[in-house]
Amino acid sequence: AGRNVSYFRETDSTNTQAKRLGEEGAPAGTLAVADRQMAGKGRRGRSWDSPPGRDIYMSLLLRPDIRPSDAPMLTLVMAQSVAEAIREKTGIDARIKWPNDIVAGGKKLCGILTEMSAEMDYINYIVIGVGINVNQPSFPEDIADRATSLMLEAGRSFLRGPLIAAVMERFEDNYSRFLGTNDLSGMREAYNELLVNVGEQVRVLEPGHEYNALSFGINDRGELLVRKEDGSREAVFAGEVSVRGI
Ligand code: ATP
Repeated sequence: AGRNVSYFRETDSTNTQAKRLGEEGAPAGTLAVADRQMAGKGRRGRSWDSPPGRDIYMSLLLRPDIRPSDAPMLTLVMAQSVAEAIREKTGIDARIKWPNDIVAGGKKLCGILTEMSAEMDYINYIVIGVGINVNQPSFPEDIADRATSLMLEAGRSFLRGPLIAAVMERFEDNYSRFLGTNDLSGMREAYNELLVNVGEQVRVLEPGHEYNALSFGINDRGELLVRKEDGSREAVFAGEVSVRGI
């Protein structure tokens, strides 16, 4: 993954670029990287703050032979890979906030956004977007209390190239294990070790339905296992919901 790289000095969003490349027939493993995003995206139409020159904005194009309903697991494969790469390259205690964020000290270092083009039971392509705050010295007021960067956490700056390479290397390893079983059984233990939500009270925000629960970690399908206040158990599906620490 990431051997065929398209670099953009400026783009609307690397996910949009990677989707264009996907439509044009680019091979699996193509990586769109940009120095700046004019319209960086988060989940549910939210935006990703993407100033020029300091951070990583990249989107990986994949064409896996899996069912569309299995695609949300790839967000977790990437989250694990980013967390491992950051820990290896910076020594920062990077952890995963299920399903799609990497945090340090409770603040967001990285967000992941997975998008898919599928028809019926066939995946045309999947794009996994990764935004990592590398050398941002400060953040806009509205996210300053929720966002951090590798530089702010480690007290020094980092080159982006080696970090991108480390994420791709870790991803290749985790992705090939995923494809071996079409689930996260080969990664689950390592993922749960890096998960911040383990043993914590969380608030589950499903569309039209919110509740408090105790979280235990993920199962082999990447669902977050929780126990509700009435004692019932639930496996929360990654595609649909947000989880907040409370
Ligand atoms: P939640 O944490 O509510 O579940 P999410 O994981 O769905 O949110 P994303 O959609 O991944 O969040 O990211 C978008 C949100 O992240 C924005 O609404 C904003 O609060 C925050 N954000 C935007 N840009 C950055 C950034 N560069 N670094 C950290 N956080 C950011």
